Amino acid sequence: MGKSSVRPVRACALCGNFRELEESHIIPKFVMRHLKKTAHGEIRSIENPNAVIQDSEKHYMLCGECEDLFSKKETKFANHFFYPYQKNSVKEFDYDEDLYYLLTSISWRSLYQDILDFVQNPEQVGIDLDTLNCFIEKESEIKKYLLGKTNNVEGIENHIFFFDDIKEFSNMPKEVKPHSTFHRGETSYTFFNKTEGTLATITNMMGIVLFTLYKKGKLEVWENTQIINGIGRIEALNQIIQSVCGNELIDIMNRVKGKSDNLSEKQKEKIIKRIDDDLEGFIKSESFEAIQKDAALKKD
Ligand SMILES: [Zn+2]
Repeated sequence: MGKSSVRPVRACALCGNFRELEESHIIPKFVMRHLKKTAHGEIRSIENPNAVIQDSEKHYMLCGECEDLFSKKETKFANHFFYPYQKNSVKEFDYDEDLYYLLTSISWRSLYQDILDFVQNPEQVGIDLDTLNCFIEKESEIKKYLLGKTNNVEGIENHIFFFDDIKEFSNMPKEVKPHSTFHRGETSYTFFNKTEGTLATITNMMGIVLFTLYKKGKLEVWENTQIINGIGRIEALNQIIQSVCGNELIDIMNRVKGKSDNLSEKQKEKIIKRIDDDLEGFIKSESFEAIQKDAALKKD
């Protein structure tokens, strides 16, 4: 017997038609699936570390037709990019305009949900009207591009930063765990820095970090990170980011550190017991690999 579900009939966030909406994942769902498959134990969220999560963030957002628009490009990204990087450590990729489209669609889903939040809680988020308007304007331009009404979005940039194995990291706060944070996690959110003039969405997909810049600060340096809207090549090599966006990487690590600090005694016991019960499985897991890399980093 199939699971029954009641889908709301509302305006689709992309095409605007009133349809039965599907639950759309912000980050493509194969990322969480792969994270679970390669983990030892359960996946916990940053917001509430004492609860186990079954699935990543999703919302009734798109109609079936618009979901299909994204899903072919998602599969292509999974097979040509995500899995080769995760499973075989491939570090050079040739790409075409489908990658640009897919990356833009991921950031758009995140931006769309964040705008709803910004509009409902402007004071809590600390957002000013100019910034909010800029986000809203970009969101509507991106929508036209995703629907095929335009071939490009003026003024936005997509960048991929590979959070590769690192031996050292300048200005990194103590006690943070870069490998466990980025290789063993996923997150997506929109942020702004009024002083520097930077507006962006950041998405981590197990070490593949996507930045979509809606507005770029004057003094920013991005080297070997940009994904153009066409045919190109990207390598996980000599990538440099000098931007307030780099601070977000540190913020994410700090939040994950805070998450382990907030873990209850009961949950800690549960985790230790699971490791004790299957030590061999734990040692073979990618969770353990990341912990080891982080431990090695601290000794330097
Ligand atoms: Zn639609």
